[in-house]
Amino acid sequence: MRKKLIAGNWKMNGSKSFNEGWVKSIHAALAAMGPSQNAEIMVCVPTPYLSQMAGLLENTPVALGAQDVSAHAKGAYTGEVSLGMLLDVGVQGVIIGHSERRAYHGESDSVVAQKVKACMSSSITPIVCLGETQEQRQSGQTNDVIQSQLSAVMDALEQDFERLVVAYEPVWAIGTGLTATPEQAQEVHAFIRGLLATKTRHAQDLKILYGGSMNAQNASSLLSLPDVDGGLIGGASLLAEDFAKIITSANAECN
Ligand code: PEP
Repeated sequence: MRKKLIAGNWKMNGSKSFNEGWVKSIHAALAAMGPSQNAEIMVCVPTPYLSQMAGLLENTPVALGAQDVSAHAKGAYTGEVSLGMLLDVGVQGVIIGHSERRAYHGESDSVVAQKVKACMSSSITPIVCLGETQEQRQSGQTNDVIQSQLSAVMDALEQDFERLVVAYEPVWAIGTGLTATPEQAQEVHAFIRGLLATKTRHAQDLKILYGGSMNAQNASSLLSLPDVDGGLIGGASLLAEDFAKIITSANAECN
C-alpha cells in the first residue's frame, strides 16, 4: 500500500526565527497525534535555511526538502546548487519543475527531465511537478499537457523510476484559493498513473501528490481519492497548525 506523503513548499518564505517557531509547533502537534502516524512528512525550504532546518528537524519524522536543484554536478554555474551540496546538508527530497520555475525561470520540459534524472543517481527523492494552465484546461488540453510534461521525464529516465514522486499541480489552483474538484483531481491522477504504467510495472507503487490550494478544510476530500497519494502544499504549509491538520487527514487515510 502506498503511504501518503504530505510535503510543504515554503516557496520564498521563512526566516531563522520563523523556522524555529514552526518546527516547535509541528513537533508539539506531532507529539499530540501519538505514535501511530503513517503519513510521510517533508518540508521544502529556501536554500539558505537548509542547514538550520536539518538541525531543527533532527529526531523528528519530518524530512528535509529543497525547492530546486541543478542538473549539473559542479562547475561554472553561478547561483546553482548541486545534488551533492543538498546531500551534504542533509536534504532528502527536492521539488523539480514547479510551475513558478517553469514560468519565471524558463525551465523547459527537457531541463526538468535532466534534473529528475540526476536525482536518480543519488538518494534524493525528486518530486516532479506537472500541470495545466487555466487556458489549457478550458481548451481541453489538460491531458496533452500532462502527457508531454511527463513523457519528457519518462523518456529521460527510461526504466529507472524508483523513488519518482509526481505532483499534479494545476497552475490555475496554485496560490489562488481555487482547488481542483475531487473528480478533476482523481481523473488527472488516474491518467498520470496510466501513463506511468506504460513505462514501468511499478506504477501502482509510485506516489502522485495533488497540489493547488490544498488546506486544512479540503485536504480530507482530496486525500481520500484512490489515486491521490498525498499533497504538495504551499500557503497552508507555512501555518504550522494547518499543516498539522493536513497531516492528521493523511494519517486517517493511511489507517
Ligand atoms: C505550491 O506552491 O506547490 C502550491 C500548491 O501552492 P498553494 O498550496 O499555495 O496553492
